[in-house]
Amino acid sequence: MLDCLNIYAEQWELSVNLGKTNVMVFNKSSRILNCAYGFKLGTQELFPVRNYCYLGIKISLNGTFKQAIEDLRKKALRAFFSIRRTVNTRALTTSTMLKLVDSLIKPVATYGCPIWLHSTNIMKTFVAANDCASLPKTSTGDALETTHLRILKWILGIHRKANNNFCYGDTGRLPWTISVVPQCVEYFLRASTCDAIGVNTLLHCTFQEQKNLQLSWYKTWYESIDKCTRTFPSLTPAAATLKHLSSTFIEHWSSELKSQSKMRFYCSVKTEFKEEPYLQLPKRSSRINIAKLRSSSHDLWIERGRYLKHSTSDALRACRYCCEPDQLEGLLHLPHSEPPILESEEHVLTECPGYHPIRAKLSDNLLSLLLLKEYGTIMVSCHLPEFGRYLTHCFNLRNPKRTPDS
Ligand SMILES: [Zn+2]
Repeated sequence: MLDCLNIYAEQWELSVNLGKTNVMVFNKSSRILNCAYGFKLGTQELFPVRNYCYLGIKISLNGTFKQAIEDLRKKALRAFFSIRRTVNTRALTTSTMLKLVDSLIKPVATYGCPIWLHSTNIMKTFVAANDCASLPKTSTGDALETTHLRILKWILGIHRKANNNFCYGDTGRLPWTISVVPQCVEYFLRASTCDAIGVNTLLHCTFQEQKNLQLSWYKTWYESIDKCTRTFPSLTPAAATLKHLSSTFIEHWSSELKSQSKMRFYCSVKTEFKEEPYLQLPKRSSRINIAKLRSSSHDLWIERGRYLKHSTSDALRACRYCCEPDQLEGLLHLPHSEPPILESEEHVLTECPGYHPIRAKLSDNLLSLLLLKEYGTIMVSCHLPEFGRYLTHCFNLRNPKRTPDS
């Protein structure tokens, strides 16, 4: 075949770029085998390589796309950092930032996904239909999703260890893996129907090979489409697969949240998987502080106490304003004493006397909603901007040195 290519090139006076021509003999061990040496184009020897970048996708000797996905992850992060350098992101609302990310970063991270998406954990879990495995949990093992979550956390202004389910829930966004499934299904259907003649010959032969050997790419998409079109027969294959995957994801998201004790406050204010109105607030400090409060990724002792020594003791999570240091010391050593007043979200928002002066300035309506502990109502009411300012004051009073900018 190489001789044929050489003769053809010579006849038409074409030159083959030998710097970009290499030999790959695929094998499971990822090693360059002896049989990969000795290939020649005319008299010129072609050298074997471990990786080859073809049309922007790195192909590895063992046939996996791990290296390719890792490279795309790095490229996407580089693109994200360059946006942060060139655009004044502080002036943009969260929704605008999300749109920017969708149009500039996501296409980089998901480049060529119709050929590699089947190897992600989300797709494997979905096809395996394992009842014990949850889609949000398995997504954290995918490089594509860790990149997506890292970007979301930066936009929301919360730390990198903040809860992943909160990021999906409050932005109302599905994992990138799920959002690009329709284009992968369309590609599979196009490949399955192409003819053995003309420009699509190679695609047709590759598809038949995948089908005959029942390889993972073919099996994943065939089984997913089959399963989803049986569940939603009235929809097109692409729409049915997207609907099935997203409803399974949201179902798992909801049950996982309920089982996470850290997300108790979040569960009390979050009712639906959708983008929250506070992300539209013009004031950045309000948006960030509300996100911190909702995700429990703040500095209040109820959370910080979890990570200290003796974290089982409630005394470490007590409000330092309401409990004297001596009392705390006593609580640590006397296990059967009165339970301390915990510095929880509710305590700071409605009870702690340390914040009374700020609370006194609130409008009557917001104050009464706070006293009734109607936090969920506040999050969708017209008092949201005032609530954001109130929260910023509370957090600034508590941590004077670590104030976020406004
Ligand atoms: Zn207090």
